[in-house]
Amino acid sequence: MCPKILIIEDEPAIADTLLYALRTEGFEPQWCATGEAGLAALGRVGFALVVLDIGLPDGSGFEFCKTIRARSAIPVLFLTARSSEMDRVVGLEIGGDDYLVKPFSPRELTARVKAILRRSQGNSGANFATVGTAVISPPSPAAPELPTPNFVVDDARCRITYRGQALDLTRYEFRLLRTLIGQPGRVYSREQLMAAGWEEPGASFDRTVDAHIKSLRAKLRQIDPTKDSIQTHRGLGYSLKEEGAAGDRRNDQ
Ligand code: CA
Repeated sequence: MCPKILIIEDEPAIADTLLYALRTEGFEPQWCATGEAGLAALGRVGFALVVLDIGLPDGSGFEFCKTIRARSAIPVLFLTARSSEMDRVVGLEIGGDDYLVKPFSPRELTARVKAILRRSQGNSGANFATVGTAVISPPSPAAPELPTPNFVVDDARCRITYRGQALDLTRYEFRLLRTLIGQPGRVYSREQLMAAGWEEPGASFDRTVDAHIKSLRAKLRQIDPTKDSIQTHRGLGYSLKEEGAAGDRRNDQ
Protein backbone atom coordinates (compact mmCIF):
# COMPACT_ATOMS: atom_id res chain seq x y z
CA MET A 1 0.00 0.00 0.00
CA CYS A 2 1.50 3.32 -1.11
CA PRO A 3 0.66 6.15 1.28
CA LYS A 4 -1.32 8.82 -0.56
CA ILE A 5 0.04 12.34 -0.21
CA LEU A 6 -1.96 15.42 -1.11
CA ILE A 7 0.03 18.34 -2.52
CA ILE A 8 -1.66 21.75 -2.38
CA GLU A 9 0.68 24.07 -4.29
CA ASP A 10 -0.08 26.64 -6.99
CA GLU A 11 3.30 26.64 -8.77
CA PRO A 12 3.31 23.83 -11.36
CA ALA A 13 7.12 23.59 -11.46
CA ILE A 14 7.30 23.00 -7.70
CA ALA A 15 4.35 20.62 -7.84
CA ASP A 16 6.14 18.63 -10.57
CA THR A 17 9.24 18.33 -8.43
CA LEU A 18 7.14 17.22 -5.47
CA LEU A 19 5.19 14.69 -7.52
CA TYR A 20 8.36 13.19 -8.96
CA ALA A 21 10.22 13.07 -5.65
CA LEU A 22 7.34 11.45 -3.80
CA ARG A 23 6.63 8.90 -6.56
CA THR A 24 10.30 7.95 -6.61
CA GLU A 25 10.10 7.20 -2.89
CA GLY A 26 7.06 4.96 -3.30
CA PHE A 27 4.31 7.41 -2.37
CA GLU A 28 1.15 8.07 -4.32
CA PRO A 29 0.97 11.85 -4.61
CA GLN A 30 -1.95 13.88 -5.93
CA TRP A 31 -1.69 17.56 -6.83
CA CYS A 32 -4.23 20.36 -6.34
CA ALA A 33 -3.38 23.94 -7.36
CA THR A 34 -5.78 25.71 -4.98
CA GLY A 35 -6.80 25.37 -1.37
CA GLU A 36 -10.44 24.79 -2.26
CA ALA A 37 -9.55 21.98 -4.69
CA GLY A 38 -7.34 20.50 -1.98
CA LEU A 39 -10.14 20.54 0.59
CA ALA A 40 -12.45 18.86 -1.90
CA ALA A 41 -9.86 16.15 -2.59
CA LEU A 42 -9.41 15.59 1.14
CA GLY A 43 -13.09 14.88 1.41
CA ARG A 44 -12.93 12.24 -1.33
CA VAL A 45 -9.66 10.37 -0.77
CA GLY A 46 -8.01 8.97 2.34
CA PHE A 47 -4.63 10.72 2.39
CA ALA A 48 -1.80 10.01 4.82
CA LEU A 49 -0.34 13.53 4.77
CA VAL A 50 -0.85 16.99 3.24
CA VAL A 51 1.95 19.11 1.78
CA LEU A 52 0.46 22.60 2.03
CA ASP A 53 1.83 25.76 0.41
CA ILE A 54 1.30 28.89 2.52
CA GLY A 55 0.87 31.30 -0.40
CA LEU A 56 -2.08 30.00 -2.39
CA PRO A 57 -4.12 31.99 -4.94
CA ASP A 58 -7.40 31.49 -3.05
CA GLY A 59 -6.16 32.03 0.48
CA SER A 60 -3.43 31.43 3.04
CA GLY A 61 -2.20 27.93 3.78
CA PHE A 62 -2.61 28.75 7.48
CA GLU A 63 -6.34 29.31 6.96
CA PHE A 64 -6.67 26.12 4.94
CA CYS A 65 -4.80 24.25 7.67
CA LYS A 66 -7.34 25.47 10.21
CA THR A 67 -10.16 24.20 8.02
CA ILE A 68 -8.40 20.87 7.58
CA ARG A 69 -7.83 20.61 11.35
CA ALA A 70 -11.50 21.22 12.04
CA ARG A 71 -12.31 18.12 10.01
CA SER A 72 -9.33 15.83 10.28
CA ALA A 73 -6.14 15.12 12.18
CA ILE A 74 -4.08 14.39 9.07
CA PRO A 75 -0.42 15.51 9.36
CA VAL A 76 0.38 18.78 7.56
CA LEU A 77 3.78 19.83 6.16
CA PHE A 78 3.85 23.53 5.25
CA LEU A 79 5.77 24.89 2.27
CA THR A 80 6.86 28.48 2.44
CA ALA A 81 8.61 30.85 0.03
CA ARG A 82 10.60 32.64 2.72
CA SER A 83 11.53 31.66 6.22
CA SER A 84 10.18 35.04 7.35
CA GLU A 85 6.76 34.07 5.97
CA MET A 86 6.58 31.09 8.27
CA ASP A 87 5.40 32.10 11.68
CA ARG A 88 6.54 29.05 13.59
CA VAL A 89 4.31 29.67 16.56
CA VAL A 90 1.21 30.20 14.44
CA GLY A 91 2.06 27.17 12.30
CA LEU A 92 2.42 25.01 15.37
CA GLU A 93 -0.65 26.37 17.11
CA ILE A 94 -2.93 25.70 14.19
CA GLY A 95 -1.69 22.15 13.98
CA GLY A 96 1.07 22.07 11.38
CA ASP A 97 3.58 19.26 11.89
CA ASP A 98 6.61 20.72 10.15
CA TYR A 99 7.58 23.15 7.42
CA LEU A 100 10.05 23.47 4.56
CA VAL A 101 11.42 26.70 3.11
CA LYS A 102 11.69 26.93 -0.69
CA PRO A 103 13.90 26.13 -2.45
CA PHE A 104 14.34 22.72 -0.88
CA SER A 105 15.86 19.56 -2.26
CA PRO A 106 13.54 16.67 -3.19
CA ARG A 107 15.50 14.52 -0.76
CA GLU A 108 14.84 17.00 2.05
CA LEU A 109 11.14 16.87 1.32
CA THR A 110 10.84 13.10 1.25
CA ALA A 111 12.92 12.84 4.43
CA ARG A 112 10.52 15.20 6.23
CA VAL A 113 7.47 13.38 4.90
CA LYS A 114 8.85 10.04 6.05
CA ALA A 115 9.76 11.43 9.47
CA ILE A 116 6.27 12.83 10.01
CA LEU A 117 4.63 9.57 8.91
CA ARG A 118 6.96 7.53 11.12
CA ARG A 119 6.12 9.75 14.04
CA SER A 120 2.39 9.56 13.51
CA GLN A 121 2.39 5.82 12.94
CA GLY A 122 4.59 5.18 15.95
CA ASN A 123 2.01 6.74 18.19
CA SER A 124 -0.94 4.49 17.59
CA GLY A 125 -2.70 1.88 15.52
CA ALA A 126 -4.10 1.74 12.04
CA ASN A 127 -6.63 4.54 11.83
CA PHE A 128 -5.08 7.72 10.52
CA ALA A 129 -7.63 9.95 12.17
CA THR A 130 -6.76 8.46 15.54
CA VAL A 131 -3.04 8.49 14.83
CA GLY A 132 -3.15 12.08 13.75
CA THR A 133 -5.03 13.16 16.83
CA ALA A 134 -2.38 11.61 19.01
CA VAL A 135 0.30 13.50 17.12
CA ILE A 136 -1.30 16.86 16.67
CA SER A 137 -3.62 17.64 19.53
CA PRO A 138 -2.22 20.32 21.86
CA PRO A 139 -0.99 19.22 25.27
CA SER A 140 -3.89 18.46 27.53
CA PRO A 141 -4.23 20.94 30.37
CA ALA A 142 -5.60 18.30 32.71
CA ALA A 143 -2.94 16.14 34.31
CA PRO A 144 -5.06 12.97 34.68
CA GLU A 145 -5.48 12.77 30.90
CA LEU A 146 -1.76 12.62 30.25
CA PRO A 147 -0.57 9.17 29.21
CA THR A 148 2.55 9.49 31.36
CA PRO A 149 1.98 7.91 34.78
CA ASN A 150 5.56 8.71 35.82
CA PHE A 151 4.95 12.42 35.40
CA VAL A 152 2.26 14.48 37.11
CA VAL A 153 1.80 18.04 35.90
CA ASP A 154 0.32 20.79 38.02
CA ASP A 155 -0.20 23.58 35.51
CA ALA A 156 -1.64 26.01 38.03
CA ARG A 157 1.53 25.84 40.12
CA CYS A 158 3.88 25.26 37.16
CA ARG A 159 5.10 22.13 38.90
CA ILE A 160 5.95 18.67 37.63
CA THR A 161 6.30 15.59 39.78
CA TYR A 162 8.42 12.71 38.49
CA ARG A 163 8.02 9.30 40.11
CA GLY A 164 6.37 10.94 43.08
CA GLN A 165 9.05 13.55 43.61
CA ALA A 166 8.59 17.23 42.78
CA LEU A 167 11.14 18.55 40.29
CA ASP A 168 12.82 21.86 40.97
CA LEU A 169 12.53 23.40 37.50
CA THR A 170 13.27 26.77 36.01
CA ARG A 171 10.55 28.43 33.97
CA TYR A 172 12.04 27.25 30.66
CA GLU A 173 12.69 23.75 31.91
CA PHE A 174 9.09 23.53 33.04
CA ARG A 175 7.81 24.66 29.63
CA LEU A 176 10.10 22.30 27.74
CA LEU A 177 9.21 19.27 29.84
CA ARG A 178 5.52 20.23 29.84
CA THR A 179 5.59 20.27 26.04
CA LEU A 180 7.35 16.90 25.79
CA ILE A 181 4.99 15.30 28.33
CA GLY A 182 1.96 16.55 26.40
CA GLN A 183 2.68 14.13 23.56
CA PRO A 184 5.01 11.28 24.55
CA GLY A 185 6.84 9.86 21.56
CA ARG A 186 6.36 12.92 19.42
CA VAL A 187 9.65 14.30 18.14
CA TYR A 188 9.90 18.07 18.59
CA SER A 189 12.46 20.05 16.64
CA ARG A 190 14.51 22.59 18.57
CA GLU A 191 12.53 25.31 16.84
CA GLN A 192 9.24 23.82 17.98
CA LEU A 193 10.51 23.56 21.53
CA MET A 194 11.70 27.14 21.43
CA ALA A 195 8.33 28.23 20.11
CA ALA A 196 6.70 26.45 23.02
CA GLY A 197 9.08 27.64 25.70
CA TRP A 198 10.24 31.12 24.80
CA GLU A 199 8.30 34.31 24.35
CA GLU A 200 10.57 35.37 21.49
CA PRO A 201 11.78 32.19 19.83
CA GLY A 202 13.78 34.12 17.22
CA ALA A 203 15.94 35.66 19.91
CA SER A 204 17.29 32.32 21.10
CA PHE A 205 19.54 29.72 19.58
CA ASP A 206 19.31 25.99 19.25
CA ARG A 207 22.02 25.62 21.85
CA THR A 208 19.68 27.18 24.40
CA VAL A 209 17.28 24.28 24.03
CA ASP A 210 20.15 21.81 24.25
CA ALA A 211 21.41 23.42 27.45
CA HIS A 212 18.00 23.27 29.13
CA ILE A 213 17.44 19.69 28.00
CA LYS A 214 20.80 18.76 29.48
CA SER A 215 19.91 20.28 32.82
CA LEU A 216 16.43 18.69 32.74
CA ARG A 217 18.02 15.29 32.14
CA ALA A 218 20.32 15.78 35.09
CA LYS A 219 17.36 16.59 37.34
CA LEU A 220 15.41 13.54 36.15
CA ARG A 221 18.45 11.30 36.66
CA GLN A 222 18.76 12.47 40.25
CA ILE A 223 15.41 10.81 40.84
CA ASP A 224 15.98 7.74 38.66
CA PRO A 225 19.58 7.28 37.51
CA THR A 226 18.68 4.16 35.51
CA LYS A 227 16.39 5.90 33.08
CA ASP A 228 16.70 8.60 30.45
CA SER A 229 13.17 9.87 29.81
CA ILE A 230 14.20 12.31 27.12
CA GLN A 231 15.34 10.89 23.81
CA THR A 232 17.61 12.75 21.38
CA HIS A 233 16.79 12.37 17.70
CA ARG A 234 19.90 13.27 15.76
CA GLY A 235 19.26 16.13 13.36
CA LEU A 236 15.59 16.31 14.39
CA GLY A 237 15.16 17.21 18.05
CA TYR A 238 13.84 15.61 21.20
CA SER A 239 10.95 13.52 22.43
CA LEU A 240 9.72 12.11 25.70
CA LYS A 241 10.10 8.33 25.72
CA GLU A 242 6.76 6.64 25.72
CA GLU A 243 6.13 4.88 28.98
CA GLY A 244 5.40 1.20 28.76
CA ALA A 245 8.07 0.79 26.10
CA ALA A 246 10.70 -1.95 26.45
CA GLY A 247 12.68 -1.59 29.64
CA ASP A 248 10.17 0.64 31.34
CA ARG A 249 8.83 -0.40 34.68
CA ARG A 250 5.20 0.48 34.40
CA ASN A 251 3.96 -0.70 37.75
CA ASP A 252 6.62 0.50 40.10
CA GLN A 253 5.04 3.78 41.14
CA1 CA B 1 2.53 29.66 -3.75
